[in-house]
Amino acid sequence: MSLRIRLALVVAVTFAIVVVGCVYAAHVSASRELRAQTDRFLLQRASDPRVLGGHDAHGPGPGGGPDGSQDGRPLFEGTIPALVEPDAIAQYLSADGTVTQSVSSQPQLPVNAHDKAIAANGGAANLRDVSINGTPYRMVTAPLPNGGAVQVARSLQETNNVLGTLDVRLLIIAVIGTILAAGLAWLIARSTVRPVEQLTGAAERVAATQDLRHRIDIERNDELGRLASSFNTMLVALGSSREQQQRLVMDASHELRTPLTALRTNIEMLQRAPGIDDAERAAVLAAANTELAELGDLVGELVDLATDARAEEPLQLVELAPLVERVVERARRRYDGTITFTSYQPVEVNARVSAIDRAVTNLLDNACKFSPAGGLVEVEVDRTRIEVRDRGPGIDESERAHVFDRFYRAPEARTTPGSGLGLAIVKQIVDLHGGTVALAARDGGGTVARLELPPA
Ligand code: ATP
Ligand code: MG
Repeated sequence: MSLRIRLALVVAVTFAIVVVGCVYAAHVSASRELRAQTDRFLLQRASDPRVLGGHDAHGPGPGGGPDGSQDGRPLFEGTIPALVEPDAIAQYLSADGTVTQSVSSQPQLPVNAHDKAIAANGGAANLRDVSINGTPYRMVTAPLPNGGAVQVARSLQETNNVLGTLDVRLLIIAVIGTILAAGLAWLIARSTVRPVEQLTGAAERVAATQDLRHRIDIERNDELGRLASSFNTMLVALGSSREQQQRLVMDASHELRTPLTALRTNIEMLQRAPGIDDAERAAVLAAANTELAELGDLVGELVDLATDARAEEPLQLVELAPLVERVVERARRRYDGTITFTSYQPVEVNARVSAIDRAVTNLLDNACKFSPAGGLVEVEVDRTRIEVRDRGPGIDESERAHVFDRFYRAPEARTTPGSGLGLAIVKQIVDLHGGTVALAARDGGGTVARLELPPA
């Protein structure tokens, strides 16, 4: 079921329930009020002084039989005028419960055991529903001061008619209200769902065409507007990530070709000159081995850069100084010069340990690689800042902006081994931590690499 239909149904059903509830409440309150009115009328009638005055509790009225008629004319006209008005039927009960006075033209009211008990012993007036000749009546039986009781009944026909008319009208209102609600709900659902459909359409178009340049233009200040703008932001991010990936693949295939070509040249040489002497063969094989090792490193670094595996490493609170010191110790084993390590005011940082280890290793590798043979390399940790200083050739002002680009190597550096990915990896790691990294010229010659992490 579509969102639009579901929304319309929910609104319509809710409204219909409210309307039906209101109609039912109106019916109940009207019927209660009408019944209360009837009861008040009956109780008032039963306590009318004229009623109380015109009664003899111990027998039939003057010359009258229980049927209340004599010589074909109403017997009690003068005695109980208040009772015989056309809006009510009335009769008296003697103390033994027999009907003593009633009006001949009116039907007799039913008398049950409770009514007889009231006539005999008094007590509170009793109201009840009765049916007389198939017509519903409301009747009161009230005790009289001198014994006996008076019964007054009023037809409920009129009340029921009023209620019936009211019910029909309320039903019409409910039906019309529900139909209107359904229409309104449909309109509301349509206008609510339209931007969602626009969004869905745009997403489907992007999925079908793989065209990430598509944008959704929904100008709204509500949740849907925000959804659209996040969708656009997501498309931009996706687009730039895809562009980066494509660039990486292109750069990588270009860079991989160099060691591959060298490797192929060496192997071809071995094939073409089967008679070369052992020393030469060993040299060619050693070169091929080095190229293979470089190729392996390159592939490893590429995989590191291309996959965001580092981001998955959890952040943890670590002391920066011991972390850097471990890197220094490892580098000392590979480097024939001296590497010093100093730390001031060591602090803890939030870091991905192996990523930071990798970044510092790359900086230190560069310092060792570009130092003159046996040159001094200094590593210093000051709070959250790491500095690696060397006395190498330094980096030209004009090249400093590019050293963090993938595969970038200064012209002077192209004779040294490497692929130009080391600093790109450092930059990626530092960005991931929200820190900064920069290479600067060192006073007296050389380079200072500064990596700063945000404090924990
Ligand atoms: P890789 O690190 O991938 O093995 P690489 O060291 O050449 O190769 P990067 O570490 O990215 O690549 O450095 C990029 C370039 O920046 C280097 O080729 C070099 O020209 C320059 N560079 C980096 N560090 C130094 C340094 N300490 N002194 C002089 N030049 C440097
Ligand atoms: Mg490097």
